[in-house]
Amino acid sequence: MSKVLVIGAGGVSSVAVHKMAMNPAIFSDIHLASRTRTKCDAIAESVKARTGVDVATYAIDAEDVPALSALIEAIGPKLVVNLALPYQDLTIMEACLNAGTHYLDTANYEPKDVAKFEYKWQWDLHDRFRERGIMALLGSGFDPGVTSVFAMWLKKHKLKTIRQLDILDCNGGDHGQAFATNFNPEINIREVTANARHWENGQFVETPPLAKKVAFDFEAVGPKNMYMMYHEELESLARFIPELERARFWMTFGDAYINHLTVLKNVGMIGIEPIEYQGQQIVPLQFLAAVLPKPETLGPTTKGKTNIGDIATGEALDGSGEKTFYIYNICDHEDAYAETGNQAISYTTGVPAMIGAAMMLTGAWTGEGVFNIEQMDPDPFMTMLNEHGLPWQVKELDGPVAF
Ligand code: NDP
Repeated sequence: MSKVLVIGAGGVSSVAVHKMAMNPAIFSDIHLASRTRTKCDAIAESVKARTGVDVATYAIDAEDVPALSALIEAIGPKLVVNLALPYQDLTIMEACLNAGTHYLDTANYEPKDVAKFEYKWQWDLHDRFRERGIMALLGSGFDPGVTSVFAMWLKKHKLKTIRQLDILDCNGGDHGQAFATNFNPEINIREVTANARHWENGQFVETPPLAKKVAFDFEAVGPKNMYMMYHEELESLARFIPELERARFWMTFGDAYINHLTVLKNVGMIGIEPIEYQGQQIVPLQFLAAVLPKPETLGPTTKGKTNIGDIATGEALDGSGEKTFYIYNICDHEDAYAETGNQAISYTTGVPAMIGAAMMLTGAWTGEGVFNIEQMDPDPFMTMLNEHGLPWQVKELDGPVAF
């Protein structure tokens, strides 16, 4: 029986709050605060209609540390779940330190003025969280999140060491729009257009954006082109699986998405430097995000499935030599929408956020300081994935990936 405060009211938050309400034995008192209170109210209404559970709502600017600290102190939750944007991670952590409240997020901190994300800023808060006697859990979405738990589960149950790891993120969904991103457009486009980086022999190797393309046949989706990208869990995986020789992240994009993105980039629409327009400063990417379809509106029209997982090669735990395993989840956009009113990208992030919160509130995962999800026991989390809408499968492959 615990009180939780969720911050942010986008698609991921909507799923997490619905799933919390469906688990009242763990989340007995749910509070939701975001910049725009009407969005919190809309989620609360849907939760009430679907589950009968009341959610209290508030307006808050999560970058205003004194106001947020006061709100947390007034509500008195055991845990703050940050489902706003990566820009707010540090201010929300600061407010949690002030209030002495545990913290969880799904994406690492990113400064607004540099398209760069890394764990350093949050890892630097470890000693302050430890001294305050509270826990911060970083990266409890799908990727980062489940993909790291998958790797740690393989390391616990199948492989003594992981030599090579490939994370394959496939969205086979079709939303019927010419161009739209399936989570926050600004964050998504900054991520996709950044240089690719992968871990190789003890260091990150940087290559131009979307330069390496491989065709892969995904179960339940079919053949798709996937592109090598940088993704934040490569940093934490390289730290917590020190024997990794190579780790890469791949995401699928259709040709239409790549063509639109190329044109937008060529005409300067994805710039993050402010420009002067009719006497006003505007950031081209923020303007683009404002005119693109809102990810939370894509739910009703999106059909198809996602298939996200890890292929890992290493020395088998049973001493039978080198083995390769593929562990993955398949999620259906229409099923996700029917259950929570949100498409599968929000669903595959919001459910693990709820599960990570459940791990902390039930005491399955404890600690004092700042922790990545790789540092926790994967088993109870993996059990809850099967029970709460994201069942996973594992199969042995003939050998390491050929790409
Ligand atoms: P949305 O843009 O749909 O929602 C973000 C919410 O945060 C909005 O409600 C927004 O308010 C609110 N917000 C923004 N700034 C502030 C602020 N200063 N104070 C208070 N609230 C604020 O994003 P998503 O739901 O798609 O994504 C949420 C998070 O999940 C992001 O951090 C994203 O990077 C992460 N994510 C993680 C994934 C993973 O697998 N690990 C995958 C997908 C997303 P308003 O409504 O007023 O705009």
